[in-house]
Amino acid sequence: MLCLSRCKRCASLNVSYPFHVIMKILILEDQRKLGLFLKQALSERAYTVTWVENCAQAREALCESAYDVIVLDLGLPDGDGLDLLCEWRRAGFNEPVLILSARDAVEDRIRGLDVGADDYLPKPFSLEELLARMRSLLRRQSAVKETVLQHQGIKLDLLSRTVHLMGKPIDLTSREFALLEIFLQNPGRILTRTLIAEKIWESHYDVDTNLLDVYMSRLRGKFEAPLGKPLFKTVRGVGYQLL
Ligand code: CA
Repeated sequence: MLCLSRCKRCASLNVSYPFHVIMKILILEDQRKLGLFLKQALSERAYTVTWVENCAQAREALCESAYDVIVLDLGLPDGDGLDLLCEWRRAGFNEPVLILSARDAVEDRIRGLDVGADDYLPKPFSLEELLARMRSLLRRQSAVKETVLQHQGIKLDLLSRTVHLMGKPIDLTSREFALLEIFLQNPGRILTRTLIAEKIWESHYDVDTNLLDVYMSRLRGKFEAPLGKPLFKTVRGVGYQLL
């Protein structure tokens, strides 16, 4: 996810250019102490961390947002991490997954990798090794990350910061661009108002919800008329979905 302004994070990272790539990590870990430790250790290294404690919360988190890496525990209170991973891969979620588990037999590792994990680190583990493996996954991920997002005749170029609809250039403000980018990176997912506000306005408090509606109606105006059909679905009380 690209940060669209010089925010506090940029300043604290001493980044001198206006865009930085925010790496989003999802941690699924039911041991409270370990979950808290990982969240803190990764946050200190400037990752944006979401920590969840069971399969249900993880499903919800992944439906709401895309992640750059998922750290997955296997023994969970409401299911098995391997089943969850199978479910995600079947559903087409291709986020890199690093399994972090006390199951350390060779067969366990092979099974984990076979069902779609990208890496497997047995517990107990060294934090430095976990970080190194995550960096390796992130490097691989960013090498394949698309810089042109396409959907329904829309072409959004992240490098040239341009948008075309059926070959014709569309003028967008930087906020409209950021908003469209989030949707194009999550086609079909319902994006909640809170999530959108966090990404676009970098705020955790309730952005004046009218403001989001204003931006959405501007995007609709620019795309839906030329397309001749709806591009977004309003999910009442929840958010929006790119159709
Ligand atoms: Ca566990």
